[in-house]
Order: sequence, then structure tokens, then C-alpha cells
Amino acid sequence: MKINMVLMLLAGILVVMAISFQWKISSDAAYASELEAQYQQAMDDYNENNIYYSPQATTQWIVQRQNPAGYFVTNPDMLFEPSQLNNSTLRGTRYAISTLGDLNGLHTINRHAVIDFILGLYETEIKQTRVETYTRYQRGTRYDGFKTLPGQDVGVRPTMDALMILNRLDLLDDPRLNLDGIWNFIVAHQNEDGGFWDEHYPKLLKDSSMKCTSFAARALAILSQHTGRPIPEKLSKGVIRFVQNNHDIVTGGYSSQPGENSDDSYNAFRAFKSIWDTTNGSDEIKRQAVSDSIDMNALIDYFNYNHYLVELGGYSRHSNLENKKASIKATHLTVWLLHNMQLLDYVDKQSISKYVMSMKTPDGQYGGDIYTTYSAIGLLQKMGIPSAPKPEPEKPEKPAIIPSIVPTTFFITALITLHLGYQTKKFEFKTINKALIIQASTDALTGIYNRQCFEQKLKHEIEKSLRYKRPLTTIMFDIDNFKRINDKHGHIAGDTVLKEISVLIKDALRDSDIFARWGGEEFIILSTETDIDGGRQLAKKMLDLINEKEFTVVQKISASFGVTEFCAEDSMESLVKRVDNAMLEAKRQGKNRIISVDAKLNCQPACLTSGL
Ligand code: GH3
Ligand code: MG
Ligand code: MG
Repeated sequence: MKINMVLMLLAGILVVMAISFQWKISSDAAYASELEAQYQQAMDDYNENNIYYSPQATTQWIVQRQNPAGYFVTNPDMLFEPSQLNNSTLRGTRYAISTLGDLNGLHTINRHAVIDFILGLYETEIKQTRVETYTRYQRGTRYDGFKTLPGQDVGVRPTMDALMILNRLDLLDDPRLNLDGIWNFIVAHQNEDGGFWDEHYPKLLKDSSMKCTSFAARALAILSQHTGRPIPEKLSKGVIRFVQNNHDIVTGGYSSQPGENSDDSYNAFRAFKSIWDTTNGSDEIKRQAVSDSIDMNALIDYFNYNHYLVELGGYSRHSNLENKKASIKATHLTVWLLHNMQLLDYVDKQSISKYVMSMKTPDGQYGGDIYTTYSAIGLLQKMGIPSAPKPEPEKPEKPAIIPSIVPTTFFITALITLHLGYQTKKFEFKTINKALIIQASTDALTGIYNRQCFEQKLKHEIEKSLRYKRPLTTIMFDIDNFKRINDKHGHIAGDTVLKEISVLIKDALRDSDIFARWGGEEFIILSTETDIDGGRQLAKKMLDLINEKEFTVVQKISASFGVTEFCAEDSMESLVKRVDNAMLEAKRQGKNRIISVDAKLNCQPACLTSGL
């Protein structure tokens, strides 16, 4: 293949490579930025939604708050302050124990101290005189209960709190406890309307309230679960009756006591919990009992329309405007209810999670106190939030982008190669052209000018001669008896003669003389600056050379010459015709001679300087 073709092909390949590299760079860059955007999106999503809680941190935070006397306080700095042992201590301890139970952290606390503290609040066989204050009692029956603090009255609420703690710590079988007595104590607080009262809330006297009913129900649920003793049907039906009496048809919520407003969402939870806890059987049965007694659709609307704060993502305890503010506790109770009823899809879990996490501090607590922390952990667990962070999204591997100089380099190399190809082609054209010109003007056998070239040059020289009035003479000669040479020695020998005679004559001529093969074995010479005499002498010189030359194979040959000078009246044709005639005349006169035709006889020579 030709070099320029190879270079052109190479340039083409380089251009294609440059384009494909460029295409690869831009598509890789686009892909890389798309991956980066996806990663950023995944990271944003991760940072926004990677919600999890830390059981260890929260456990530690709570454990630090246990007093050696067993109870828990909210502020560890005041652990040993006597004021920390107050009406809320038992509740605080219950929330601490419940949270630790939820986080599997109960082994980290001082159990003995807790039981000592709780049993210190236990009162056995409440005196007969006191029993009379209960709604339903029987003389001679044992009534056992717990008080909030030593020296205070026993009540349903502290009894419920104490039972919850003992249950969590698996201490209900302690021989010091009389579970029948505790059962009797709770049951004795049910009123005719089905609700319960509690001496712990003296303001209400012996009136039933949703709050006391739900506490009694929880206490009974613990005892029933532990002992296997079923809740009497009469009791649970009474609870349902009481709950329904407290239903507010207008809002869909529940009030604390019949006829009161239903602004407090806790009461709706208490209504649910009272029925749930006083229903014997599985969660499925409990769920059915609640659904049969409570219009869940109306209750969900009540929570979502009256208590939910969209911008905060949490629920408020109160629905009236001045008290409406999101709280983790109110949110927890709402979620708890819906979780047990398998209706969590009706709340915005993501917003709630974010709201809860907004209250979190690095030390694992929420909202600054044990109650709120308990509610937060309860919420997160019920909503299925994990206790460990999600794995961070992995940074995608981006394609290795080719340096942008690469296609440019290929392109420049292609241009250089193309240029080289062009130059090579140009050179090739020049060479071919030159060869063609030589070929077109040369006789193939002898290498001297051919007839066509001679005619061109003759035309040119005639013009020059006319313009500058310079002499110009033409000589024509024809090898004598050439046919015989061919016939005798063969065509190749004839060719050799033609070549040898061409060399012989060419070498004898001046550079300015034009020597051509006229055709066959005929040759023509144009001698510039030469008149007829000079022409004759030149012809003589050549005839002598031919006669003297020993030719290969044929040895000796001769030729017949015609000579004539160009004159002003001549055309190219007339000049050639005259010299041809002169040559033929030499043949006629016996060959191997020179016949010159003087132009003076016919016309004026182009130059009159010589031959006159
Ligand atoms: P005369 O002396 O009258 O010129 O006779 P002649 O035989 O030379 O001339 P004629 O025209 O009868 O024959 C010329 C021969 O030259 C005929 C032809 O075959 C031969 N011839 C022409 N061109 C070539 C050539 O290139 N090579 C060879 N070997 N022979 C050629
Ligand atoms: Mg001839
Ligand atoms: Mg001849």
C-alpha cells in the first residue's frame, strides 16, 4: 500500500479515536456527576432520615439517677437531697424501671434497693375503719395497697405504680405480698357507674374518673396476668359502660367524667386502656373489645384534627388553643393506642420520629426528664425505629475520566499525519507528472524526443527565430536499407541500431540542438543559431560518424540527409516538407549523401547573415 494511503488511513483512525475519547470523556463526566448527585441525595436522605436511638446511652443516663434507697430522681445532682423524695418519686421510679425494662437494662440497677423501697410503701390489711370508705367492701376481707410515700394514704394509683415496678422486676411472687388483698383493694374502688375512684385524688371524692379507672384497670391487668385470675365480666362491662358514658359525640373524644369537656387527649387513651386492660384474653380479643366499644374512626379524627400539630410533627395533650403544644407524652399515648389497635398507618410516623429526635440530647435522654425519656423510648420502639444507625450510603465508584489532553493530542497527531499524507501525495503527483511529461515527450525506444515534442519545440524556435531574426536550420536523415537490416538480422537488431545511432548523434550535437525521432528509422534535428552552411557541415559531421561507426551485429550502415534553413515565409509544415524532400532527393541520388535545399531559391531566410 502506498505510504500516503497508510498515513491517510492512520489519520482517519486517529480522528475516530479522538472523537471516541472525547465522547467517552463527556459521557463519563456526565455519568460521574449523575452518580455524585445520587450520592448527595442519598446522603441528604440518610442525614435527614437516619433516626435511631441508643439503648446504652439512655440506660446509663437513667442508672445514674438511682438513689441507694432504691428510687430514681430526675436530676442526679440532687440525688441525695431529701426534697427529691416527693409525691412523684414512685412514678418516676416506675418510668425509670419501665424504660430500663424496654431497653433490657434492668440488670444494671440495684434491685434489692428497689424492692426495699417499694415494700416500704406497702400496707397490709388496711384497717376495718378505712375499709368502710371503699365503695364495695366486705367486712372481714383483706385489703392490701401501696402509698405514694411512707406516712401517706394508700391509693389505687401508687398501688398500680408499685405493681408495675414489681412485675417488671419479676418480684410479684415475693412472700411478703398478698396479691388477693391487693386485688380486693383495687376492685373495692369500682362505683355503680362502672368507673373507679381513688383516695389519691381527694378532689374527686368518691366520684369515678377516667384517670382512676384506667389506673385500676392496669393494676388488675397485672394481677390477672400474673395469677391467671380472670377479670369478672361484671367489672369489665361496668368499665365499658363508664367509658361510653364519657364519650363526647361532638368531638369524638373522651372526658374525664361524664358531662365534662373532652379537651384532654389522655382521657381518650385512658378510655382505650381501661377496656383493653379489663378484657380477658389475647391482644386480638382485646382489640375486638375496644373496637366494639369505641368508634376508632371518630377517635383517629379526634386525635388528628384536634391534637396534631402539623408543623411540629407531634400531638398535643390539650386541644384548646392556649394550651395546644406538642408533647412527647401525649404523642406516645396516641401512638400506643394506635399501635395496639394496629392502626399506626393513620399517623405521620416520619414526622413523629423527627419530632421525638428533636428532643434528644447526646447523653441519650429526651426532654430532660425520666417521664419524657420513657415516652420517647416507648414511641420509638412502637414505631419500629431501630436502635442502631443505618449503614451510611456508600460513595459510588466514579469512572476514571481520561485527561482532556488525550483527544486533543490524538486530533493534533491526526492533523500532522494528514499533512504528511498530503505532502507525500503532492510529491507523488509531482513525480508522476514529471514522468508523464517525459513519457509524453520522449520516444520510448531511443529515449530522444518524439515527433510530437519536436513539433512543439519547432513551433517555439520558429517564433524565436522570427522575433530575434536568428538563423534556424533543420536536418532530416533516414537510415538506408533499414528494411534489409531487419530482414537479415531481426527486429531486435534493428532496434539496437536505432538506439545506437540515437546515442551517436545525440552525443555529437550541441545542447541547444533539438534531436528527435521523426518516425520509423527517420530522425530530425533542429539546430538553432545555424544557417544552411552550418547545417550542411553538421550533416556532414554526422554522416561521417555514421559511416565510421561499427554497429553491433550489422557493423556498417549509411544514411541519407536532407538539410534546409528556415525562411521568413515558411510555415512549420513547409519547412518540414522541404527538408523531407531534400532527404528523399538524397535517397533518389543513391543514398549515403547530403542534399541541402537553399532557402534563397524559394524564399528569404529568417536571417541573412550567412549563406549569402
Ligand atoms: P531506404 O533505404 O529507401 O530508406 O529503404 P529502407 O529499407 O530503409 O526503407 P523502408 O521504408 O522500405 O523500410 C523501413 C523499415 O524500417 C520498415 C520497417 O519494418 C522498419 N522499421 C520502422 N520502424 C522500426 C523500428 O522501430 N524498429 C525496427 N527494427 N524496424 C523498424
Ligand atoms: Mg524510411
Ligand atoms: Mg530507410
